[in-house]
Amino acid sequence: MTQSERIERDFTARDSEEQQAFLQQTWCDNCQAADLGMHTPIEYEIEGTIFVEGRCSRCGEPVYTELTDDDI
Ligand SMILES: [Zn+2]
Repeated sequence: MTQSERIERDFTARDSEEQQAFLQQTWCDNCQAADLGMHTPIEYEIEGTIFVEGRCSRCGEPVYTELTDDDI
């Protein structure tokens, strides 16, 4: 097994409103801009931290949203 085991989660199991919030509230390192939006999201967990990963709607580079315990 790898050191950081990645556990797949079901992004589509979230409320549709919650999904929309994740898709709209993004930060893109490549564009250096917030809230550009993302598409084709997936969700997974690594060592207790949950990530929503998608593609930037502007540039197509991967964008990540990291969820802390406070958000869950
Ligand atoms: Zn971008």
